[in-house]
Amino acid sequence: MDKEAEELLNDLKNRIDYFDLIGAGSMAKGSSAESVINKRILSCRRCDLFKTRTHAVPGEGNFNADLMFVGEGPGHDEDIKGKPFIGRAGQLLTKIITVMGFDRKDVYITNVVKCRPPNNRNPQLEEMEACKEYLFEQIECIQPRVIVTLGKVATDFFIPGSVSISAMRGKFHLFRNIQLMPTFHPSYLVRQQGNKELRRKVWNDMKQVMARLSK
Ligand code: URA
Repeated sequence: MDKEAEELLNDLKNRIDYFDLIGAGSMAKGSSAESVINKRILSCRRCDLFKTRTHAVPGEGNFNADLMFVGEGPGHDEDIKGKPFIGRAGQLLTKIITVMGFDRKDVYITNVVKCRPPNNRNPQLEEMEACKEYLFEQIECIQPRVIVTLGKVATDFFIPGSVSISAMRGKFHLFRNIQLMPTFHPSYLVRQQGNKELRRKVWNDMKQVMARLSK
């Protein structure tokens, strides 16, 4: 069997495991579904990003979380370690999560694409298309009450044609019956260090998220 056929078979087998696990028509909550999805992501070759990645980065946190954060794609540090949001932007995100009264372990953190786009360019449409099944499966398993999209790329993924992040943030949008709050990407905040107005806006967005979760 040639390599491509072998990979296809492998992918198929992993998908069958996944659907066996979740049962027809209903998505299971819990860590086994998480490990099946992660396994598929870690061996994924659906787009060319696998050629340049060090590690695929499925996401991490609580697979029963009420709150999910979605960025655009792993950066350099995340690619090296296989964990989402651990570089400078990630440290800021961790701070935001802590100030909200959570721990990283309480929420689920992931990205639209699971492999690093070279030189941190934006993920391309076909890369997001190839990867979207994983994010949708994660969302179906986790069933978060609120999704926070970090930056324009992630926001656009859920709400195509969205205008600027400035216009989208600050209010809830609906995605498949889930409340979605767009906010600025933490790496933008890092680049704009000292811009208190930006930080105040992000904090206002997060306060709305906290209020929604406490309802
Ligand atoms: N930026 C992202 O969008 N995601 C990460 O995981 C890290 C940086």
